[in-house]
Amino acid sequence: MTTTDVQNFIKKIKVYYPYFSVDSAEALDEWNEKLKPYDADDVYRKLEEHLNGDRADEIPKLHFITKYLKTSEEKERAQNDYLVRCNLCGREMYLEEYDTTHYDRCLTIKTLIPILKERGEDVTYEILDEYDTATLDKVLMKYLPIKKDMKDLM
Ligand SMILES: [Zn+2]
Repeated sequence: MTTTDVQNFIKKIKVYYPYFSVDSAEALDEWNEKLKPYDADDVYRKLEEHLNGDRADEIPKLHFITKYLKTSEEKERAQNDYLVRCNLCGREMYLEEYDTTHYDRCLTIKTLIPILKERGEDVTYEILDEYDTATLDKVLMKYLPIKKDMKDLM
């Protein structure tokens, strides 16, 4: 938040709590310093939460406003962590998608390409990617006897 954001936020609190004031320069510095790392949207959301909470009759404390909030920097870092690049196909995606649907499917496609090419089929990743996962698995089971035998043993 910028210092203007903080001033506006203080004004907003005054709307609900007329007795509230940040009257000394030191107190204002404190509010600026403490709120600076956060996004205005998040801070306003916390005020809403306070207004709807069971301690709404009390003026919100600065430490309540920032409690559990992620700073803009922390949010950005979390977002970057979440994006992964598949080392098989090189595509970038969210970790959840990679774990739940992509990895197995991508491995199947990558395994099928050389097998199908050897059989004279002109396939690419994009072509195989058009098929649903069940079909790809079926084709893989057909051409991958080792995997089939292992399944039979289990
Ligand atoms: Zn992939």
